[in-house]
Amino acid sequence: MSAQLINGKAIAAEKRKAMIAQVELMKQKGTTPGLAVLLIGDHPASVSYVKGKVSDCQEVGIHSQLIRLPGDVAEAELLNQITKLNVDRRIHAILVQLPLPSHISEQKVVQAIRPEKDVDGFHPVNIGRIVTGQPGFVSCTPAGILEMLRTIHLPIAGKHVVIVGRSNIVGKPVSLLFLNRDATVTVCHSKSKPLSLYTKQADILIVAAGKASLIHADDIKPGAVVIDVGMNRNARGKLVGDVAFDEVKEKAGYLTPVPGGVGPMTRVMLLENTLTAAMRQMEKGL
Ligand code: NAP
Repeated sequence: MSAQLINGKAIAAEKRKAMIAQVELMKQKGTTPGLAVLLIGDHPASVSYVKGKVSDCQEVGIHSQLIRLPGDVAEAELLNQITKLNVDRRIHAILVQLPLPSHISEQKVVQAIRPEKDVDGFHPVNIGRIVTGQPGFVSCTPAGILEMLRTIHLPIAGKHVVIVGRSNIVGKPVSLLFLNRDATVTVCHSKSKPLSLYTKQADILIVAAGKASLIHADDIKPGAVVIDVGMNRNARGKLVGDVAFDEVKEKAGYLTPVPGGVGPMTRVMLLENTLTAAMRQMEKGL
């Protein structure tokens, strides 16, 4: 039997549609949600991601401010820009497009963003809030994965969730989110051998390794829910995930496609985090 595909593109489009009314309501109450995006240099992938973010904001009515800085900008200048945005009342959310040029400390930059405006959820305060189960900002890809599973009404409590990848932006935060929802969680990485020993046990398998065709049909349990986070270019330049889609879809219960799965969910969760940030700041009268 073929897996049911989870259409992230369609779920995200529905969410954006619903946000238009939400933004309108906030505007009527006197607050236009605002997102500042800082882009350093002109790396083509980063330029294209940022363009997408700005156009998503336009679609739902969020005010966006794109700040472009040259690739050789001094770290102090970038930190100075962030300090100004931290106190700018028109800006509720700040995102610095990563990766940064090597002369700039990513840690310093992330920690300079006020946690209440850190819609990427990378600030240690927000990570700490996930660890302790408090409301903060959850980074967009992990939040998008959970939102997809919520949309298909998938129960999580008691399930064995296996995650391939332990990055700070995907693997680690997603493991905490599932733990907080009473799943049993196994986190795998490049030293987990043999990988299939773990992946075959998964009721829900999250793959975020950045390796095309890492997961084959033999590596999963029949009926498993497989979420493919990977984004890789194959030899023909086509965007592919970490999962061998054609074979895994014949064995999985649910599967996310690449493109059109986790990617659009990541984008839409940035908008959702921006609205949440604006709402929280509005309620506090900030
Ligand atoms: P990352 O920082 O490169 O980390 C990759 C992780 O995968 C590491 O923990 C690594 O283990 C593990 N890994 C690599 N090869 C492995 C193997 N053969 N077996 C088991 N584990 C292995 O990656 P990331 O930033 O989390 O991104 C992962 C992928 O997701 C990339 O393709 C990225 O483009 C994509 N991504 C997509 C979205 C989206 O919105 N769709 C968002 C973010 C990322 P070690 O720790 O031992 O090195």
